[in-house]
Amino acid sequence: MKTFEFLRPANPAAAVAAAAQAKTAQQGAEVRFVAGGTTLIDLMKLNVETPGRLVDINRLPLDKIETTRDGGLKIGATVRNSDLARHPTVQRDYAVLSQAILAGASAQLRNMATTAGNLLQRTRCMYFRDTAMPCNKRDPGTGCSAITGSNRSLAVLGTSESCIATNPSDMCVAMAALEATIHVQGSKGPRAIPIGEFHLLPGNTPQRETVLEPGDLITHVTLPAPVAGSKQVYLKLRDRASYEFALASAAVVVTIAGGNVTRARVALGGVGTKPWRSPEAEATLIGQPANEANFRKAAEAALHDAKPQTENAFKIELAKRCLTHALQMAATA
Ligand SMILES: Cc1cc2nc3c(=O)[nH]c(=O)nc-3n(C[C@H](O)[C@H](O)[C@H](O)COP(=O)(O)OP(=O)(O)OC[C@H]3O[C@@H](n4cnc5c(N)ncnc54)[C@H](O)[C@@H]3O)c2cc1C
Ligand code: SF4
Repeated sequence: MKTFEFLRPANPAAAVAAAAQAKTAQQGAEVRFVAGGTTLIDLMKLNVETPGRLVDINRLPLDKIETTRDGGLKIGATVRNSDLARHPTVQRDYAVLSQAILAGASAQLRNMATTAGNLLQRTRCMYFRDTAMPCNKRDPGTGCSAITGSNRSLAVLGTSESCIATNPSDMCVAMAALEATIHVQGSKGPRAIPIGEFHLLPGNTPQRETVLEPGDLITHVTLPAPVAGSKQVYLKLRDRASYEFALASAAVVVTIAGGNVTRARVALGGVGTKPWRSPEAEATLIGQPANEANFRKAAEAALHDAKPQTENAFKIELAKRCLTHALQMAATA
């Protein structure tokens, strides 16, 4: 592992100023924030990430969960995943978020992992993590080893000829269905980014994964006020029952009145190059009877544009069944 300088800024402005000295916000950035370290230090040990300076943000006052004036929730950037998942308001009003976080990683990892770090965790594509292999995301222009190689766990939605890596987060899928907003403090001031605009598709620049700029510090995430009477489910399908990333997952937040779906928010995980909100599935559900046939139609719509790779065609049917079943679970909850 390359040696690095370790900074402990006393306030967010000092942290932003330190990180703004980097030329890029992400891949290859010389200065990086570190929170729980469960992604960054892991990748530094593999020499995939090689920053020269780490800015420790754990002492900054960003670790609170508070209700907002409009009845929503404000989640600090350094709130640990465990604390967020077990928070009474989250368990009561944003159950899909609690379920998604608890479906991820292990108890020990969740005790360290933070809200912002989870938003920025990187793909588990095996070639990305192996510096001996070509990878456009790690080393732009070298090629994608996965397209002709091992791609069973990789994406079927949002892929490009440069990269087919899956976004691995569970938390982000729930946040997409809850329409979260990411709040950032940058060297030019604060800004708010809807989660649907936060992560980027790979296109021909897979090394650029979010809209963050050098120096941008995520300070908190907000969730809108909960929708009265909504049913929420996160369903994750994987190779083993725990401590494993999703092959396919679904986050659903639906309201049903008189047997019909009146509101639906649907997002998929494990199948997209970013947390995958599906407006197609939502439009298919609205106004329709809440039954299995219509849930399957919504799942067909969500996966309509899916493109299989050599080893992962099974994921398309798996994701359809996952979403259909999640909707069924929500409807009967
Ligand atoms: C063995 C293992 C299994 C896992 N399984 C799962 C799983 O099943 N599901 C799942 O969803 N996740 C899983 N994870 C990933 C885990 O959720 C992430 O590693 C964790 O959420 C990252 O949070 P962190 O605080 O440790 O991030 P860090 O490693 O500290 O940081 C990650 C990135 O975010 C940046 N960053 C951190 N905070 C900020 C900020 N405030 N502003 C701007 N940039 C910031 C850092 O610079 C870095 O680039 C697993 C991880 C491991 C190691
Ligand atoms: S899928 Fe993306 S991360 Fe994986 S090898 Fe290809 S370019 Fe790299």
